[in-house]
Amino acid sequence: MKTSASLGNDQESDTERGSGLVVAVDGPSGAGKSSTSRGVAIALGLRYLDTGAMYRALTWWLLGRGADLDDPAVVAGLVTAPHIEVSTDPRAPWTRVDGTDVSEAIRTREVTAAVSAVAAVPQVRAHLIAKQREIIASAPGIVAEGRDIGTVVAPGADVKVFLTADGAARASRRSAEASWSTQADQDRRDRLDAAQSGKAADAVVVDSTGLGLDEVVGIIVGLALQKSR
Ligand code: C5P
Repeated sequence: MKTSASLGNDQESDTERGSGLVVAVDGPSGAGKSSTSRGVAIALGLRYLDTGAMYRALTWWLLGRGADLDDPAVVAGLVTAPHIEVSTDPRAPWTRVDGTDVSEAIRTREVTAAVSAVAAVPQVRAHLIAKQREIIASAPGIVAEGRDIGTVVAPGADVKVFLTADGAARASRRSAEASWSTQADQDRRDRLDAAQSGKAADAVVVDSTGLGLDEVVGIIVGLALQKSR
């Protein structure tokens, strides 16, 4: 799918100067958060933050050390050890751990199966949320995606979207992205992530079922333009 949401020339030059706009996109996996958030960021000339990549990066590093991920105390004690960096360029997102590019390595089945347990550890959340807030505060405007952006990371975001899709749409997106992922894996991850996930009271629910990427991007760009007027 391609992204073709675009703004008029005047609006484009406005947003390129940096509007300070913060757009929060939360929702379950398979709803299309990443492609949508990148598309919105590109259309509006904003930066992009994939918070899930940060939890995945820490999990990848812990797995590589053979850490016992079932022991929250072990995980808590190692939280600050790896240096995790993410690109905020929506056209070229990458994730690095201690200087190594792990953009692909963090998408494996092994990391995906383990990440929820790591993300549930309070010290992990405190550390990564602080980093996420720094990234958001230093950006000239950003689209941040995750599970708790509108509720916890950036409750003052200008635009909050809760992106959903029905089970079949999520399953078909999921299998397009990761053929190894089963419905049971997905259900398990949803259950484990529930405590960390939430829709902010003032979030707009966007149901992407049956919509193309361009349409979903267009809806969110429309919400953002209303706010930035
Ligand atoms: O978005 P993605 O599926 O890549 O996120 C990977 C995992 O990171 C989620 O399953 C969840 O456990 C965790 N996560 C989180 N809070 C966020 C983003 C992701 O707990 N804001």
